[in-house]
Amino acid sequence: MMKSLEEYIALAAESHGHMCPGQVLGIRMAMLGLKAIGIDDPGKYRKRLLTFVEIDRCATDAVSLVTGCRLGKRSLKFLDYGKVAATFVDLETQRAVRVVARDDSREKARTMFPELAEPHRQQLAAYKVMDDAELFTVQPVRVKLDGHDLPGRPRTRVACEQCGEGVNDGRERRVNGRILCRSCAGEKYYEPLSD
Ligand SMILES: [Zn+2]
Ligand SMILES: [Zn+2]
Repeated sequence: MMKSLEEYIALAAESHGHMCPGQVLGIRMAMLGLKAIGIDDPGKYRKRLLTFVEIDRCATDAVSLVTGCRLGKRSLKFLDYGKVAATFVDLETQRAVRVVARDDSREKARTMFPELAEPHRQQLAAYKVMDDAELFTVQPVRVKLDGHDLPGRPRTRVACEQCGEGVNDGRERRVNGRILCRSCAGEKYYEPLSD
């Protein structure tokens, strides 16, 4: 069974370290998204549920909590788009919806709770009680999935011909006939201080 909003709020506060508007959004976003693809008990669907999150902020921790999808299990995919949005996919039925938080919900929160001084407190109070339709836009979508993206054992593993490091799941690049890791292929996000 899906837990209640209040139960998820208590669990989220504990695991995330505080309660905040972003987490209320994340919890409700996940509850709504799962319901929309016909999943009423995320615990039972763990093997077939995939979630894409588009931001690395508070809401994402809450989405992970409700869905049970985790980075380390490859069931949570992080796309760095800076949006409070997530897509929920049932791998068995291929049903998927993308849920986006509406920007006008902040203003709505302000008008609902003018007696609360700060926007943070207004949003925290309002996001618990606003209607789903006031908080989110839901769109049915199709997600193109590559076998290399799915949970389970790595499909492939190769060694980079330049640095020798192992690369799983087809993330290598082919450059002038050589198999290279993304870093050696020019996508390095760090500079070694010495080597
Ligand atoms: Zn937070
Ligand atoms: Zn390399």
